[in-house]
Amino acid sequence: MAQPPIMSAQDRIRALDAAKAARQERSALKARLRDGSLTFSGVIEIAAKNPVVAKMRVVELLESIPGYGKIRAQALMEKSAISPTRRIQGLGKLQMSALLAEFSQPSAKRGKLFVLSGPGGVGKSSVAKALRTVPEFWISVSATTRAPRFNEVDGVDYHFYSNEKFDSAIEEGLFLEWAAFAGNRYGTPAQSVQEKLDLGLNVLLEIEIDGARQVKAKLPHATLIFLEPPSWEELVSRLEGRGTDSPERRATRLALAQEELAAAPYFDTVLINDRVEEVVSSLIRLATS
Ligand code: 5GP
Repeated sequence: MAQPPIMSAQDRIRALDAAKAARQERSALKARLRDGSLTFSGVIEIAAKNPVVAKMRVVELLESIPGYGKIRAQALMEKSAISPTRRIQGLGKLQMSALLAEFSQPSAKRGKLFVLSGPGGVGKSSVAKALRTVPEFWISVSATTRAPRFNEVDGVDYHFYSNEKFDSAIEEGLFLEWAAFAGNRYGTPAQSVQEKLDLGLNVLLEIEIDGARQVKAKLPHATLIFLEPPSWEELVSRLEGRGTDSPERRATRLALAQEELAAAPYFDTVLINDRVEEVVSSLIRLATS
């Protein structure tokens, strides 16, 4: 390594700040690759104008592309004769065309992304549960800081995270979306969703309304479905029937449900949850149409 330059204390602070900003910029870009809102050729376009991105290692970039883990990224580097330490700005013409060709190939048919949302108590989780046995869908498993209920299994119903683990997942850009709800945080892991879509599976996220909005902003092709109760009275009676909630909590939930119902016009499709089987059939129709 060459001798480090002679620096004043001020210079050192500036250099550290610049390095931190560059790291944050690179990790934001990798997060966008992971959630599918940026493509490989999009990164190359950015790198042509942005030296921070141009200095990214190629391997780092490839590993962030959905469906490309360490092994597949390494194999592609070897196939394209790219050394493991190569940065984007150092790619030769032939190497660059090999990579662009790899990612411009028409991919196999991708799955569709559905987001199921609606007021608390409307029965979203019963619909999602019924869909778990339907081969047309893969149901995303969210991460949450909420404690498991007695009948919930880690990795099946949710990935149960500590607050610290949730914080690092946010910082590393691992969530497609996340939101706070009733004192806990919930987030959709981006990578597993992208992998399943790449495999051609239809993916369903069962999430609250703020999260649904975030998904639409990032992935406009997602279909947002709002589940409505057959009537306001029916929702009141379903929330009333929840023996696990105190009367105060039921009143709060009802007030929240009233606000949530007002979000329906924002959604692409509204389905009435009269019978779970009918909602499931409508979702299968939407996925296969
Ligand atoms: P519960 O704690 O009753 O399982 O879920 C509370 C709320 O969090 C429900 O409205 C559920 O749809 C929502 N939720 C579950 N997972 C996620 C997620 O990954 N992101 C967001 N934004 N909401 C979620």
